[in-house]
Amino acid sequence: MRSTPADSRQYRAQLRRALDNQFLRQTLAGFAARNRQQRAETFAGLDFAALAQEVARIKDDSLSRLPELYQQFKQAAEAGGAQVHLAADAAEANRIIADIAKKAGCQRLVKSKSMTSEEIFLNDYLEAQGLTVTETDLGEWIIQLRGEGPSHMIAPAIHLSRQEVAQLFSRVTGRELDPQNVEGLVEVARQELRQAFLSADMGISGGNFCLADSGAIGIVTNEGNARLVTTLPRVHVALVGLEKLVPDLGSALTILSLLVRNTGMGQPISGYVTWISGAVPCATGADGRKEMHVVFLDNGRLALSQDPVFKEALRCIRCGSCANVCPIYAKVGGHNYGHVYIGAIGLILTYFYHGRENARALVKNCLNCQACKAACPAGIDLPRLIKKTAGLVLAQEPRRPAKNRLLAAVLKNRRLFHFLLRRAYLTQKPLARGERLIRHLPFFFGREQGFRSLPVVARRPLRDRWPELARPEAKPHLRVALFGGCLVDFVYPEQAEALLRLLRGRGVRLDYPLEQTCCGLPALMMSEEETAREVAVQNLRALDPAEHDYVLTLCASCGSHLKENLPRLLEGAAGLAVQARQLAGKVIDFSSFMVDVLGVEPALGGSGAQAAYHAPCHLCRGLGVQRAPRELLRAAGYQYLPYAEEEVCCGFGGSYSLEFPELSAAILESKLDQVAATGAELLVTDCPGCVLQLRGGLDQRRSPIQVLHMAEAAAAALDKPRA
Ligand code: SF4
Ligand code: SF4
Repeated sequence: MRSTPADSRQYRAQLRRALDNQFLRQTLAGFAARNRQQRAETFAGLDFAALAQEVARIKDDSLSRLPELYQQFKQAAEAGGAQVHLAADAAEANRIIADIAKKAGCQRLVKSKSMTSEEIFLNDYLEAQGLTVTETDLGEWIIQLRGEGPSHMIAPAIHLSRQEVAQLFSRVTGRELDPQNVEGLVEVARQELRQAFLSADMGISGGNFCLADSGAIGIVTNEGNARLVTTLPRVHVALVGLEKLVPDLGSALTILSLLVRNTGMGQPISGYVTWISGAVPCATGADGRKEMHVVFLDNGRLALSQDPVFKEALRCIRCGSCANVCPIYAKVGGHNYGHVYIGAIGLILTYFYHGRENARALVKNCLNCQACKAACPAGIDLPRLIKKTAGLVLAQEPRRPAKNRLLAAVLKNRRLFHFLLRRAYLTQKPLARGERLIRHLPFFFGREQGFRSLPVVARRPLRDRWPELARPEAKPHLRVALFGGCLVDFVYPEQAEALLRLLRGRGVRLDYPLEQTCCGLPALMMSEEETAREVAVQNLRALDPAEHDYVLTLCASCGSHLKENLPRLLEGAAGLAVQARQLAGKVIDFSSFMVDVLGVEPALGGSGAQAAYHAPCHLCRGLGVQRAPRELLRAAGYQYLPYAEEEVCCGFGGSYSLEFPELSAAILESKLDQVAATGAELLVTDCPGCVLQLRGGLDQRRSPIQVLHMAEAAAAALDKPRA
C-alpha cells in the first residue's frame, strides 16, 4: 500500500525534492519534447478531433450499458470455456485471483503490465499469500525490484537512470554491471525473466478491450511479454476494469487506432496486439486446454458510470498522454503527480479509487492549462473534472479554508472588491518605490514569490479613465462591448488604451459597461462554484449581449471562461441560460477580432523587431485560436521567431502560482529559457496574466527582453492614421 501526502505542506516539500532532481527534470523534458514531435508525426493527415469524438461516442455508449455488456461478455466467454468473475472491490478481486491460484495449485506467477492490478495492489496481496509474482514488462520488473509503483502508465520506470538500473541489476545478479552497457543490462533482464516464464504455472494479464459479442479480450503491449504470460503457463487470469467492455471488435479497433498513436511513442500501432477468445489449447493444461479466467473489477465503476459529471472519466483508455503533455508532470514526474494513477486522470481517479485522503493535496495541483484535455483521445474534459473533484474534496472539509471564504465574500460584492483593488495601490506604494514593478517582497512572500517581480496596481483603473479615453465613432458599423477583466482594469489599463488607439477610425463603437466585475474564473479555480455563478449573473446583468455584435476581451482566460463556463454555470437558470449562451457566442479575443473581423492589413514596414510569441493556454486551447495572433504579429511588421514550446503554459495559472510557487517558477524558467534562445528582443502574448508572469520573470533575470500584450505590440506598429 502506498499513501500520498494529504497535507499541502508535506506535499509541497515532496515537490521541492523532486524539483531538485536534475536527472528527473532533464529526462522528463526530453521525453515531453520527443513525445510531442512523435505524436504530431503519427497523427499527420488524420483528423484527431473527429477520431476522439468517435472514441468518446463508443465509450459513452458502452458505459451507459455496462451491466448488459457484462452479461453478454460472460455468456460468450463461458461458452468458449473461460470463467468470468465480477469483483465488487479491490479486496474481492485480490481474493478471487489468489483462490484461483490456490485451487489450481499454482505457486509461480508471471504478470504483464496492468494498471488495474496496480490499483488493487495485487502483487502485495499475492506475495502475502506466499505466492511468487514476477512482473515481465522490463519497466515493471525494474520497479517491482525496487518496491515502487509505476511513475507513468506506459513507461513505468522513466524516472530511473541507467546507473540506478545497473546498480539494481548488480544487486539481483551478484555481478558488477556496467551502466554504459545498455544491451548488457537488457540481456540480464532477458535471462532472468526467461527463467520466470518457463517455470510459471499461472499468468496474469490486464486487458485493453473486452468484446461483449465474442467474449474475447484484446491486449496491447510493446514487448511481447504479454504473449508469453498468456500462452506459456497453464492458467491465465485477465484482470480488467468493467469500463474495458465494448460491444464488438469494430469498436475496439477504432479505439486502438488512436490508443497507440496517442502514446506518442512514434508508432501507429504497437508491436503486439493480442486477441484471446476463450480457453485455448495449452500443452501443459489439464486436458490439453488452458484454464482461463476473466476477473472484472467494479471498485466504484458502476456507480461512476451513472454519475452525470464524472462518468466521463471512465472513457479513459490509458494512453498516458495527459501526463506526457502536462507541464507539471514534466517537472516532477508521476511519483509526485499521482497516487497509483498519475497525470490528469490520476488526479481524478485517485479520489474515486483510493480515497479522499490520497487525493486531498494532489487534486489542487493543476494549472488549468487545458493541455491534457486537448491531447485526450477520449475527449475527456480533464481540467473541469479535476476542479469538480477538488470541489468534492473541499465539500468534505470540516470548515472551508479562510482564503476560500474571503474570496467568496469579496468577489460577490463588486463594490467591495473594487474598493480593495483601489486601496491596493496605496498599500503597495512603499514597496514599489516609484517603479512599475515590485522587485522585493517582504517576509516569506519574498521567499515564495521572489521568482518574479510583481506589477504595481494602476493609480487610476480603466473604469475611472474610460470617460476621457473613449471617443465616439461617427458612423459605427459594429457595436462591441469590452470585457476588461480585473488585470486589464486595475493593473494594465494601458492594454485597453492600445486597443482604443487601434480601433480609432475603424467604425467600431466600443462600450465598457461599468457594472461588470471579475469573470469568476478565480472562484472556479478554487472550487467556489456558487461564487462563480453569482459573479456570472452580475456580469450578465451588466453586459447585455443582445445590444452588442461582439464581446471583446484582451484576456484569454476571461474569454475562455465566458465562452465555456458561463453557459454551464447558468444552465437551467430561469431567464439567464439563453442570455448566457448568447453572450458566450459573441465572445471574441483581441487577435481574432483584429484579423478576422476587421481584416487588419499588413503594415508597410513596421518596426521589424524580432518577436517571440507566447500562446496563452486559454487562447490556443481554451478558445482554439492559433492562427490569428501569429498573423497579426506578422501584419504588424514584426519578425516572428517561433520556438518549440510556444503553446506550453508559462506557469501562471492565477491562484496556482500562489499555491504552488516552486512549480510555477520552474515552469516559467523553462519558458523563459526557450524564449531567450530565440534571440528575440520582444515577447508578445495575448493575456494579461501571462504578461504578469513573463514580465515579472524576465525582470528578475534582468533580461532586456520586453514583454508586451498583443494589443500594445500591434498598436505600436499600426496605430498610425488610416489613409
Ligand atoms: S485521460 Fe485521456 S489522455 Fe489521459 S490516459 Fe486517459 S485516455 Fe489518455
Ligand atoms: S490542465 Fe494542465 S496542469 Fe492541469 S492536469 Fe491538465 S495538463 Fe496538467
